[in-house]
Amino acid sequence: MELTLIFLLVGVWMGNVSGDTGYFWHVADHHYDPSYSSKQESCFQKQDPDVLGYYGDYLCDPPWVLVNNSIYAMQKTKPDPDFIIWTGDSTPHTPHHTLEDLKEIVANITNLIEDAFPGVPKFVTLGNHDFVPVHLSPPHNDSFYNWVAELWAPWLARAENISTFHKGAYYTGTVTPGIRAVVLNTNLYNSKNNLVDGTMPDPADQLAWFDNIMTKAALDNEVVHVVGHVPPGCIEDGTAKWFYPEFNKKLNDAIMKHHAIIVGAYFGHQHYDSFKVYMDENGEPLSSFFLTPSVTPWTYFSATVNGSAHNPAVRLFQYNKENGKLNDFFQYYLNLPEANKMRRLGLGEPQWELEYKATEYFNIPDVTATSLGALSNKLKIEDDVFNKYLTAYYVNASAIDNCDSACRSSHVCAIQNPDFDMYEQCYKKAVTSDACAVASVWKISLLGILILCSLI
Ligand SMILES: [Zn+2]
Ligand SMILES: [Zn+2]
Repeated sequence: MELTLIFLLVGVWMGNVSGDTGYFWHVADHHYDPSYSSKQESCFQKQDPDVLGYYGDYLCDPPWVLVNNSIYAMQKTKPDPDFIIWTGDSTPHTPHHTLEDLKEIVANITNLIEDAFPGVPKFVTLGNHDFVPVHLSPPHNDSFYNWVAELWAPWLARAENISTFHKGAYYTGTVTPGIRAVVLNTNLYNSKNNLVDGTMPDPADQLAWFDNIMTKAALDNEVVHVVGHVPPGCIEDGTAKWFYPEFNKKLNDAIMKHHAIIVGAYFGHQHYDSFKVYMDENGEPLSSFFLTPSVTPWTYFSATVNGSAHNPAVRLFQYNKENGKLNDFFQYYLNLPEANKMRRLGLGEPQWELEYKATEYFNIPDVTATSLGALSNKLKIEDDVFNKYLTAYYVNASAIDNCDSACRSSHVCAIQNPDFDMYEQCYKKAVTSDACAVASVWKISLLGILILCSLI
């Protein structure tokens, strides 16, 4: 299908909505690798230059052509959003870049976004890769924060008090009357940030500030979009918990305290497509946040983790401009092998396509915490819904049949438990239940299993 036709169809689809419907983009984790076509520094395996994809490779951070392409795909699809959320991580997964490299990359992507969307309000945060050395976001005034504040000055003009950006790269500003954005620097809680540790009461005083801003917003009858890079909780496969445990608890408590006025929360960092739900003791969903998949197709490998491929992605949210309520989102993606093949065969520009429309794909009425909570419960018991979720998790790139029942339990427990301890309890209970079910089916009467089963 022609690219223009795809956009036209989506335009008609999105156009059939009332006048108080608004849109905003969330784009995350470009991780541009300037050495992609030469030294391939971010690649887990060096590729034969003749084989290396023109638009990118699942084992590497992307070349500029993909970074550029992602932003202009957004522009072609929805050139006039009400605002844009960009949650950072601009540099590649390589320790070799200097402060000057970092500044050049952040400035280039900043200019790219502004050129494609001139004058559109942007709410933006740094990622843990937007520091030299990587992860080290200072919990105090810093010359790099000052430099970024100058670069982003037109965008930070919406910030009510720029001093918080100089102090810790966080700020708040009004989206429209009654709707506020609160941009947090959650790199301050990242357990790989050696400039802080869990014994610090409140790095850069951000949590106290958040409490004040949210309390005032509630008094002013405002609703709030919360923006950050590193999310609370652990990644869905259970292989990483991002924050120092103390900060994970504190930020979760702060979100729960103010859940009534949070209409949406948006994080990046994980690169896969998922979400989290905060529930009360009765299992009622109170709040939620989105994990928007990345532009980079780079896949994580380590001695213990074999990451799975995922395609480049950008996300368009649809919301109610009167009350901020999130109606839906449209997940766009680039089929990377297909795009590279088209280029090889001289068939033209890559086609970013609609991967799914959340309400239709998951059969939910909207994308509020209530609906995401109900969806998370379905993931436990409905195989087809879980398979759809898992296909989306990998942005249509990886086979989903290697996720066994323990893997599935980990996903569901991570989604429903942003608290580290509660995730562990949930996961242990789920895998023990699985063992009990197997024992029951096969009439296994091992003493250990029986004892375990009697305890849950
Ligand atoms: Zn990232
Ligand atoms: Zn990150």
